[in-house]
Amino acid sequence: MARQTCPHCGTRLSKWRVPEEATWSEEFFFVCFDDSCPYYREGWEWMMAQFRQSASYRFALNPRTGAPLPLPVWSDAATREMIMEDAEGDEQ
Ligand SMILES: [Zn+2]
Repeated sequence: MARQTCPHCGTRLSKWRVPEEATWSEEFFFVCFDDSCPYYREGWEWMMAQFRQSASYRFALNPRTGAPLPLPVWSDAATREMIMEDAEGDEQ
């Protein structure tokens, strides 16, 4: 499958393993893990304004349906442990 890029920031999406406790049936999603992504950054302000919660969303793509979805996160580091392979293979 060809690499997907984030429509909000152009970053290549990382393959991200869906946790077993999650309600999604997919094995993995493609997720934008760029902390400067406008979708992600605006999510913090939106969540605080709407719900007074310190949380945000990362842009994710369902590889089976091709449909985008918001992946909720509570910190910059959250859910990173589920990254299966890095987008560029040279991070960290
Ligand atoms: Zn992005």
